[in-house]
Amino acid sequence: MKTQADAASLDRTRQQLESKLQELVARTERIDSDLSRKTNDDWEERAVELEDDEVLSSIGNANLAEIQQIHRALRQIELGTYGICTHCNAEIDPGRLELLPYATSCMRCSQA
Ligand SMILES: [Zn+2]
Repeated sequence: MKTQADAASLDRTRQQLESKLQELVARTERIDSDLSRKTNDDWEERAVELEDDEVLSSIGNANLAEIQQIHRALRQIELGTYGICTHCNAEIDPGRLELLPYATSCMRCSQA
């Protein structure tokens, strides 16, 4: 039951998220090579590897958390649940999504 406008703005959000994701992955890869780690073409697998790596800098970890969040938001777009809080199923405030397109929880839940 989506209007054309909704579909278009969702598409735009997805493009935004995807380019942000690419940027973050590229940046994390640079950090990764700085730390002389082995390479793995599958960034998702690497994300898990990196998560367990104590050596990784805090910048890398922050990137990684963001990558995972963006990935989750993209999945929500795919599933048609984008903009719905994953905790309480409430609609996430559009203003919040504008500031934080990959928010997967509403303001209240994210503060809890
Ligand atoms: Zn919530």
